[in-house]
Amino acid sequence: MANLDSGVTGAPSGALQRLHHALMPDYNRKATLYWWSVVILGSAALGVAILQVAAMPAEHVWQVVAGTLIAAVAGFFPVRVPRSKSAFAAGEIYIFLLLAMFGPAAAVVAASTESLVGVLRSSKRWTSRIASPAMAAIAMSLCGIAFQSASDALRAAGLFNAGALVLLLMALGAVYSFVNSTLISTVFKLKSNQPLLLASWFADWGWVGLSYVAFAALSALLYLTFEQFGATVLIVSVPMLACFLAALHYFFAQQETAERERAARVEAVEREAEQSAHHMRELEQSEKRFHSAFTHAAIGMALVATNGRVLQANRALSALLGRDAVVLAGREFQDFVFGEDTGLLQEQLARVVSCEVEAFSVEVRCRHQNGREIWASLHCAFFSDATSAEPCLIFQVHDITARRRAEGRLQHIAYHDGLTNLANRGRFHEYLQQALDRQRDDPSRHFAVMYLDFDRFKLINDSLGHGAGDEFLIKVARRIQEHVRPNDVVARLGGDEFAILTEHVGNTHQAVTLAERLQAVLRKPLILSGKDISTSASIGITFSDVGYRTPEEVLRDADLAMYKAKAKGKAQYALFDSSLHTQATEQLSLEADLRRAIEDDQLSLVYQPIFDLASRKLESFEALLRWNHPERGLISPATFIPLAEESGLIEPISRWVIAQSCEQLAAWHRQHPHLSNVGMHVNASSKDFGSPTFVRQVADVLARHEIRAARLTVEITENVLMQRIGTAADTMAQLRELGVGLSVDDFGTGYSSLSYLPSLPISSLKIDRSFVRQLHCSAENLEVVRAVINLATSLGKRVIAEGIESEAQLHKLRELGCGHGQGYLLAEPLSAKQATVLLGAQEPPTEVDTAEPLDTRLRAAGGTPRLQLVH
Ligand code: C2E
Ligand code: MG
Ligand code: MG
Repeated sequence: MANLDSGVTGAPSGALQRLHHALMPDYNRKATLYWWSVVILGSAALGVAILQVAAMPAEHVWQVVAGTLIAAVAGFFPVRVPRSKSAFAAGEIYIFLLLAMFGPAAAVVAASTESLVGVLRSSKRWTSRIASPAMAAIAMSLCGIAFQSASDALRAAGLFNAGALVLLLMALGAVYSFVNSTLISTVFKLKSNQPLLLASWFADWGWVGLSYVAFAALSALLYLTFEQFGATVLIVSVPMLACFLAALHYFFAQQETAERERAARVEAVEREAEQSAHHMRELEQSEKRFHSAFTHAAIGMALVATNGRVLQANRALSALLGRDAVVLAGREFQDFVFGEDTGLLQEQLARVVSCEVEAFSVEVRCRHQNGREIWASLHCAFFSDATSAEPCLIFQVHDITARRRAEGRLQHIAYHDGLTNLANRGRFHEYLQQALDRQRDDPSRHFAVMYLDFDRFKLINDSLGHGAGDEFLIKVARRIQEHVRPNDVVARLGGDEFAILTEHVGNTHQAVTLAERLQAVLRKPLILSGKDISTSASIGITFSDVGYRTPEEVLRDADLAMYKAKAKGKAQYALFDSSLHTQATEQLSLEADLRRAIEDDQLSLVYQPIFDLASRKLESFEALLRWNHPERGLISPATFIPLAEESGLIEPISRWVIAQSCEQLAAWHRQHPHLSNVGMHVNASSKDFGSPTFVRQVADVLARHEIRAARLTVEITENVLMQRIGTAADTMAQLRELGVGLSVDDFGTGYSSLSYLPSLPISSLKIDRSFVRQLHCSAENLEVVRAVINLATSLGKRVIAEGIESEAQLHKLRELGCGHGQGYLLAEPLSAKQATVLLGAQEPPTEVDTAEPLDTRLRAAGGTPRLQLVH
């Protein structure tokens, strides 16, 4: 049963307008008029009906009230028709029964009451609650009039029987339903200004109409049964109908539940379908997004099958490898990786595929289409997407060539010598360590290490400048590299020191052959700053079978061997042997002893006379240092002077020698004033010539002992002179300025060139004893000595021959015009006491004694000198 709510707002004018607005806001004029008409008409019909019922006999009135009550109660339990807005109540059965039993008035009262109950339950609006009972009253009044008229006519025609009654009531049921529902619908249609159509009526009320017809038929049957069997049937009919309606209600309710469930299921399926469509749309979107990100990514990307086959590659990767993305697809990714790195990549891929790791990153070298090597950082991880059936891998490939190159350059700088591009000391140590490791694993893998030092580098640097020095190093480095085996490692350790590591050396012979080959190559002259320069290298060699543990040990021994080679002379090689170790340790302890020697007065001087070979007169003494070691006895200066030079002890030693020898000379001069021309030669070391205080010390000593500067001669060996030509020049000039004589010692053993002689500020030169020794063996040697004497004499420089040991040598030297000489033939180095005796013998010629008494006196002074010239 519908209520009359909802519709379109309309508004009558006038004083009632406000009241109307408050009470019937959605009723337009027509609807309002209609409502009032219906209500007035219905109320009138109901009023008349009530009056008529009241006029009935009391017994009937009660029956009418009972029937009305049943109809009203039934109105509380409407049966809702599934899938329809409508509901019906069984009250209609009793309304039509009252119509058949007591006439239209009873039916109008019952219909109004039942309608009131229904509308009270279904609507809260007072318009509906008033109008509905009024409409029911109108509809039932019309039905009642029709019933009376039709039954009167049928009776008059003699056709009124049970069947006619049933049919008549059924027809009235339809009429009642039609009229009532039309009255109700009209309100809606008027409110919404819509026409009243039969089709829409059937759609809205069809079901209810049929139920009214059925109820009317039932009421007819009940009436006939009541006629037959009395009032009990009616009483029984109430629970029976209640049961029937309850059953119908539950049946419909169940249907409705089933319907609801079905609808819920359909809705759920639809929702699911909607969701999955949404999901699919999202996937599609995400797929598109991924595809776009993949395609346009700045980093190279590829989807790769677990067997390494490229499924898809993006633009960046195809640009990185210089290959079309289509060409990349289907190929093995390893095809684009350099051979040495494919193993690494495959190993990592296997780990990911076997789920040992989830992802990995490696740096590999890839091959560009044009053959160029590209360093790539490759990150690989599993990739699963909704569309692909099997999981695959995603590669992210990043070009790191620039970074790797920079790293490579840095590493090269860190491990290479900038000048020669050879390995540097640090790198050489690493190579040595690797060689040691390899030998530890496989003792048959011998190696040899050579330590090279050039004999003339300092001289080149000082005389030709550092540019030429650098050029020299570059050229000799190239030469060395060209003459070693391809796998040998050549390194520059610093300065002019080079090292070579050569592996797989079966025996000493192989290493020696290599050393000899190198020396032969390095001896060939080099062109430096346009000049032909000859050079040579000293090579120390050591072998792995010594049993080394660290690279430092290897290099230390090769270095020791190199010093041994140097000690042998120029362009020599030497093999390391353990005695070198002993020597080295001995040297260390000797150095410590030497420090003490200075303090403990273990040093002394001997004086070897130098004679004028023509007049046979004593010309001067050469002061020679002696070290009387408390345990080792007398130690040669050739042994301890280099040690003193290395340890820096030479400076105090030199100071002592100069002071001591000058003090002695002054004493002799005082003793023998007529011999005040006798001079003193002292040997100076290279360090002395580099010392800024040396000249002042010499000057101080001369002043202290009042010795004329010309009486003192400082000897400098040719080697030192040439090696320190830059730094020694100043000292030499200052000494000459002071008036001190300068003599080149061991002439002929160093630079072997006479060209520099005129430019040197020297007063004399001493021909090395090796030349004197060979005077009679080699004509060439003789010519050299002759040339030296002639040149020196022509330059006004004195020539002193060293090491004269025989009469023949003395004779020859005199013949060659050599002015002065010293040697065992003439006099051995003498103690101060012996020298004093000798000086005593240097009396004026008239008092010259025989040699014998002097010899005897010298013996008495503690020596056995030969003094051939002194007689
Ligand atoms: P040198 O300056 O050439 O000294 C001459 C060396 O020849 C001395 O050896 C001397 O004893 C030795 N000698 C002299 N006559 C003969 C001979 O007829 N035959 C042979 N075979 N040798 C002869 P010594 O004293 O052993 O000195 C060796 C070197 O030690 C010296 O060579 C000199 O360079 C250095 N020296 C000696 N004393 C000093 C010193 O006080 N200071 C410095 N710096 N060096 C010194
Ligand atoms: Mg000397
Ligand atoms: Mg000498």
